[in-house]
Amino acid sequence: MYNPTSLKAEEFIDHQEILDTLSYSEKESHNRELIMDIIEKAKERKGLTHREASVLLACEEEDLNQEIYALAEQIKKDFYGNRIVMFAPLYLSNYCVNGCVYCPYHAVNKQIPRKKLTQEEVRKEVIALQDMGHKRLAIEAGEDPVNNPIEYILECIDTIYSVHHKNGDIRRVNVNIAATTVENYRKLKDAGIGTYILFQETYHKESYEALHPTGPKHDYAYHTEAMDRAMEGGIDDVGLGVLFGLELYRYEFAGLLMHAEHLEAVHGVGPHTISVPRIRSANDIDASSFDNGISDDIFAKIVACIRIAVPYTGMIVSTRENQECREKVLHLGISQISGGSKTSVGGYYEAEPEDAKSEQFDVSDNRTLDEVVKWLMEMDYIPSFCTACYREGRTGDRFMSLCKSGQIQNCCHPNALMTLKEYLEDYASKDTQKLGLALIKKELSNIPNPKVRAIVEEHLNDIHSGKRDFRF
Ligand code: SF4
Ligand code: SF4
Repeated sequence: MYNPTSLKAEEFIDHQEILDTLSYSEKESHNRELIMDIIEKAKERKGLTHREASVLLACEEEDLNQEIYALAEQIKKDFYGNRIVMFAPLYLSNYCVNGCVYCPYHAVNKQIPRKKLTQEEVRKEVIALQDMGHKRLAIEAGEDPVNNPIEYILECIDTIYSVHHKNGDIRRVNVNIAATTVENYRKLKDAGIGTYILFQETYHKESYEALHPTGPKHDYAYHTEAMDRAMEGGIDDVGLGVLFGLELYRYEFAGLLMHAEHLEAVHGVGPHTISVPRIRSANDIDASSFDNGISDDIFAKIVACIRIAVPYTGMIVSTRENQECREKVLHLGISQISGGSKTSVGGYYEAEPEDAKSEQFDVSDNRTLDEVVKWLMEMDYIPSFCTACYREGRTGDRFMSLCKSGQIQNCCHPNALMTLKEYLEDYASKDTQKLGLALIKKELSNIPNPKVRAIVEEHLNDIHSGKRDFRF
């Protein structure tokens, strides 16, 4: 029986409820009156249910689809302005005991080099990331209780926060590791992590079990209930995601939103972020052997419909997507992107030799961070290196209430300008710097409160004279 408040995976992600949602949305895909009603409701910016959002995703009326895109774009502007938050992944270890059939780190892959960073190597990677200009990382590690126990992850987090190279500073570490116990989530919380990210991969239980034939990840319920344990362990901000291409995208879309509704119903706060990765080839994985791949157009529609359904949830796109695709989805709802990423264990400090590559997936956007920053500014976006919220205790429901009242904008915009200024002072190329300074000058006039504007101007001067780390 479908029950969003249940703590049992098969009740809050009820298979029959998803099937009913899919047949309902299919049946109503030409129902103009219903679709227009849903669009009207979405204009209130309070979100949509998984059923309503599924109808929009299924909508086959071209003019109404254009309205859906326009609304997603408007909501993106209203909630996130023209800011895009930057981050980079840091792979710690690719030892893994699981058998995920879509990931080259699966345990039976004997051809991929296995690597695990020592603390000295973590330090070198972090210095390289700081020298690029990054302030926010997402750490990644395979599941392996012997090689990557929680103590190893905690030690790495400690090391990352302890490195301060020149003006460099990693100010927020998000963590993407396997589902674990409440006790371990508590340890991660105490280590000062930002968001705990765990991709569901697929919400379809039968497919999930087939795609994860061996290892602890095979347990669908343990994996799906992980966010509840994380929240029980005190982690306020969690990040959801599915790997599009494994199952039917409409099934995943409904499951993702049901998971968000469940978190809201039980914990009073929905997901902090949603990621939208698509399956990619790497090492012994051939993405074309998966039948459910989606086109760029469907991908864009998914992004737009998520933006409308959960306006307060940040949305992340990685370098799995190429420049063209990233450009297309930025204005439809994406609020965070990675740049200059390496998806192998090591590789920032020193390039991996050609014959010993350990990438988890092939990167489609190979540009440097400076190139990505410049590209964003050329499109009038403000690349932001802000990490203020969790450092100011604005997490979980406190964060969400600031979002819902719109007050968070008063922090995001000035913080974006000040952190961009730091980037321009310390890391940018000449061209990027020139473009960025002009952008900051222009954007200063968009700070409505004169007192706030004056403080930001003062801090921008302070940054120019060498001071760092100002935030609202
Ligand atoms: S997806 Fe994660 S758990 Fe699965 S094989 Fe890859 S690293 Fe291991
Ligand atoms: S102020 Fe908070 S919500 Fe806004 S960009 Fe910074 S960390 Fe994100």
